[in-house]
Amino acid sequence: MAGIGIIGAGVAGIHLGLLLRQHDIPVTIYSDRTGEQLAGGRLPNTVAHHDTTVRREQALGVDHWDLAEHGYFGHHHYLGGPEPKRFFGAYTAPSRAIDHRIYLPRLLHDFRERGGDFRVRAVRAADVAALSDQHELVVVASGSGDLAAMFPRRADKSPYDAPQRRLCVGLFDGIADNEPRSVTLSLSPGHGEMVEIPIRSFDGPRKALLFEAVPGGGFEVLADASYDDDPAGFEKLVKDTLRAHHPTTFERIDHRRFRLTRPLDLLQGALVPTVREDWVRLPNGRYAIALGDAHVVVDPVVGQGANSASYSAWELGHTIIEDPTFDERFCRKVARRRADRVHATSDWTNLMIRTPPAPHLLELLDAMAGEKALADEFTENFNHPERQWDVLATPERTRDHLARRGRT
Ligand SMILES: Cc1cc2nc3c(=O)[nH]c(=O)nc-3n(C[C@H](O)[C@H](O)[C@H](O)COP(=O)(O)OP(=O)(O)OC[C@H]3O[C@@H](n4cnc5c(N)ncnc54)[C@H](O)[C@@H]3O)c2cc1C
Repeated sequence: MAGIGIIGAGVAGIHLGLLLRQHDIPVTIYSDRTGEQLAGGRLPNTVAHHDTTVRREQALGVDHWDLAEHGYFGHHHYLGGPEPKRFFGAYTAPSRAIDHRIYLPRLLHDFRERGGDFRVRAVRAADVAALSDQHELVVVASGSGDLAAMFPRRADKSPYDAPQRRLCVGLFDGIADNEPRSVTLSLSPGHGEMVEIPIRSFDGPRKALLFEAVPGGGFEVLADASYDDDPAGFEKLVKDTLRAHHPTTFERIDHRRFRLTRPLDLLQGALVPTVREDWVRLPNGRYAIALGDAHVVVDPVVGQGANSASYSAWELGHTIIEDPTFDERFCRKVARRRADRVHATSDWTNLMIRTPPAPHLLELLDAMAGEKALADEFTENFNHPERQWDVLATPERTRDHLARRGRT
């Protein structure tokens, strides 16, 4: 067994595996569970793939879900506060959210059909050196268990050592589409955000409601509320939260139909945003590369983790194709190629969850409310986190950006 060994069958591992198979490179993916187990399990996330990721899916031949039917077209913003603001930002090309319990098993099927080797095996950090004797390169594309910890945390890029939001996300029936069909980004100052995502799940189109609760804020209770103990009470709490904090979604509820779709379509938790080193040298002198969440974990508030994982897989894959000598120079090349976008993704996301919010972020959001071109640009930059960070990295940059667009 040679070729590339990938630990993890998430978007990072599978996109990398598919790209390498397109170039006839032998690949083995190890995962702790089968596609069927993933499909039958709890909601793992509510991931939107933006146009840049959709284009990679097209290039990989895995663009299985029609964009006109399953895509969405922009962001409806709601900024709460004493003078609430509503405005819309458009994409130039649609994003798409397919339940990963449908998406990943389908792509795993494609990977196997294209000659990829798939092994069900729970790998531990202690196993990685032995695996690296069997493969030319090992890629760690799972942040679970002790695997991510193989790669030292970068304190210079990881400003938080605790979660900044507590999460509650579920799939719901009984919320009408907004027009045009889009994500809703709703901000309740001091309390947190709610992201409503049109998502394709098992029984058709659904709405994912992702509550990003500031600890101690008005809807943190959702992160602890038990659906299983009291389904009706839980759904009432969700509706009460929408009414109080996120009215543009509340307005579209059909109260007779509103419900969580299934008990397993709910996820509650929290994560610590973390950037890790790109690679580690193993005791046998070989190298392991970190990919996806094993490399960088971001809060889901602006929907970037999977998009960044796919981008990073693409850059790693092309480096493997172009320069398959897996030494330190190779590792440095991979790190350099992906650094700007992956670090910008993390920096931008970390700014979005800062409490209290950075004044220059509020200044930009306020300007976007009055100028559609600015809102469109912010929306389109969900495809280009490094451009978003060009605008938001410092108050001076935001001021320059606004001045260049005629806002002083
Ligand atoms: C609520 C929520 C909403 C989100 N929304 C978005 C969004 O809109 N857009 C976006 O881009 N990102 C979003 N994300 C982030 C996104 O889900 C992750 O960044 C992305 O899925 C990471 O992909 P990955 O392949 O690195 O890891 P994962 O998807 O976590 O895959 C890891 C794989 O490793 C396997 N595995 C686990 N342990 C082991 C082991 N010991 N041995 C072998 N295999 C193992 C797992 O079964 C899995 O196959 C969201 C996350 C959450 C929680």
